[in-house]
Amino acid sequence: AQKLTSGKVEFHDISFGYDPAHPVLHNINLKIQAGHFYGVVGHTGSGKSTLLSLLLRFYTAQSGRIELDGLPLAAVSEEEFRLKVGLVPQEPFLLAASVRDNIAMGRDLTDWQIQTAAKSAHAHGFIEQLAQGYDTELGEGGAKLSTGQKQLLAIARALAGEPVLLLLDEATSHIDSETEQVVQTALTELRGKVTIIAIAHRLSTIRDADQIIVLNHGKLVERGSHTEL
Ligand code: ATP
Ligand code: MG
Repeated sequence: AQKLTSGKVEFHDISFGYDPAHPVLHNINLKIQAGHFYGVVGHTGSGKSTLLSLLLRFYTAQSGRIELDGLPLAAVSEEEFRLKVGLVPQEPFLLAASVRDNIAMGRDLTDWQIQTAAKSAHAHGFIEQLAQGYDTELGEGGAKLSTGQKQLLAIARALAGEPVLLLLDEATSHIDSETEQVVQTALTELRGKVTIIAIAHRLSTIRDADQIIVLNHGKLVERGSHTEL
């Protein structure tokens, strides 16, 4: 089986519509270099989450092809995909379980691996402040976390698998500016260690991205660094 090592991604002339008669992405060509940090911005409905959904193989484009590590997306095994592609969804879900189990997600991870991931995600600080730390129960009937804390926990969960590619769909709902700053710091520190594609609703989150990709009505209209745009 093919192993993913770099997290390089290429979109070649991708067009897609949930209803094939109404495309929401039009001829997307995009090369994502390994270890770089990409931000994706655009109005609501411009196709940002759809772009990630195609990369995650939730849907298949009607035309064009996507390559991961130089391989056709379909050639990557499900197991390798699950191990090496980390996703931080727009609305992360929590299990009714401990913080530790919410990061491990059934994987056989040591406390050291869990805490290392939480530290990289800058989630360790707030976890330590919870009544029982990593043993605190979350989810239904458990401790309530803010939207921002849920995102940090989801980043820790994704990093615990030591992914080569990290996909982040920033929460649309309110995140306090302090947490937003923490997400930004975490992503910036990960640059060079993992390929990052981060959909951002706030430009500040991706201020330090190597490249910012702008989608408009399903078309890639611009790319450049924060200062260039
Ligand atoms: P937001 O900033 O609000 O998250 P977005 O840029 O992520 O927006 P998408 O969710 O990719 O936008 O949506 C692109 C288009 O596809 C929109 O017109 C949307 O209504 C439509 N769409 C999204 N998901 C589905 C779906 N599961 N089925 C049908 N249409 C969808
Ligand atoms: Mg979206």
